[in-house]
Amino acid sequence: MSTNQNLLNDVEEVLLMGPGPSSVHDSVYRAMSVSTLGHLDPYFIRIMDAVKVQLQQVFKTQNKLTLPMSGTGSAGMETSFVNFIEKGDPVLILINGVFGMRQKDVAERLGAEVDSLEFEWGTPVIVDRVKDRLDNREYKIVSMVHAETSTGVANPVQEVGKLVKESDALFLVDAVTSLGGMMVDVDKWDIDIIYSGTQKCLSCPPGISPVSVSKRAVEALTSRKSKVPNWYLDLSMIVKYWEGQKRAYHHTAPINMIYALHQSLYNLLEEGLEPAFVRHQKNHEILVEGLEDLGLQLFVDPSCRLPMLNAVVVPDGVYEAEVRSRLRDEFKIEIGAGLGPMAGKVWRIGLMGETCRPESVDRILDALKKIL
Ligand SMILES: *Cc1c(COP(=O)(O)O)cnc(C)c1O
Repeated sequence: MSTNQNLLNDVEEVLLMGPGPSSVHDSVYRAMSVSTLGHLDPYFIRIMDAVKVQLQQVFKTQNKLTLPMSGTGSAGMETSFVNFIEKGDPVLILINGVFGMRQKDVAERLGAEVDSLEFEWGTPVIVDRVKDRLDNREYKIVSMVHAETSTGVANPVQEVGKLVKESDALFLVDAVTSLGGMMVDVDKWDIDIIYSGTQKCLSCPPGISPVSVSKRAVEALTSRKSKVPNWYLDLSMIVKYWEGQKRAYHHTAPINMIYALHQSLYNLLEEGLEPAFVRHQKNHEILVEGLEDLGLQLFVDPSCRLPMLNAVVVPDGVYEAEVRSRLRDEFKIEIGAGLGPMAGKVWRIGLMGETCRPESVDRILDALKKIL
């Protein structure tokens, strides 16, 4: 038997209805197979510049420092902390799920003095509690997750942003799951540092993390006393590749992933942000109605449900993992399990980007009907 096998011929097409990755449009697959250019090729630099402008449009920002970081959403998270934290800096993190916890872990590893406010999982951040805390202490950074993918909760970023603006702190937001699926308005919401990911509502394969940084945050970066402690994610070096007349090599950009991002942002902007948000909301409502018709319940209150991530309570007596494996094996649909304390208690059904179509809703409802 040969030990060298190609397993790719047998990859099945699966409808990705989990918490990401989401389904990828054919045009994005085609973009990935466009000829690889050199990372300093003049035409590639044109594509880089176009991607920056597309990201500014999608983030709704004039921030000059807006670019795609190499690596998945977590690389964006790391970038957003490592460039702005110096040892002992006071940081406040608002936590109501796995990704808030991850932010805390990242900030602590960098030697920040981390304070956190915790909220019950499945419920949103309570703005008044944030206000109390900010009235009593000063922070260098206040950080939160917009769309908490682990629970399906939408957090009140705009309201918290108003409070943070009254303090001296920088406002840091995780928009990995929200970007492209619901309103994210960086400039209007006074967000100083924001990161996202490609494989959620941007419907691009995983591998890139769009990041945007305000002028105030750039000033914090340039007035650091110590070097950014991570070479690969150091924005002060990376901008020399992404900005200016003469570009300097830092690390080789993942060329074909940038093509894919360019195409997926092109697709999103062609559809229009507003229509894309409406599509997410509509399909979410149809899904919820169908789930309720099947006797299933959503985990999160309607007032703060995410459209693109639906946490569904596993009914008593149902073995949740078996339902997921039957969906995958018999119906070629992937959905997500619960994370952390939610493991075994919920399914997470994603309606992100290209996945968010009436056909997907029909397929999952039909499959769940047959299984349950
Ligand atoms: C998926 C996700 C991340 C992490 O992104 P990776 O691409 O898995 O590294 C961070 N934050 C949120 C809210 C996410 O949903």
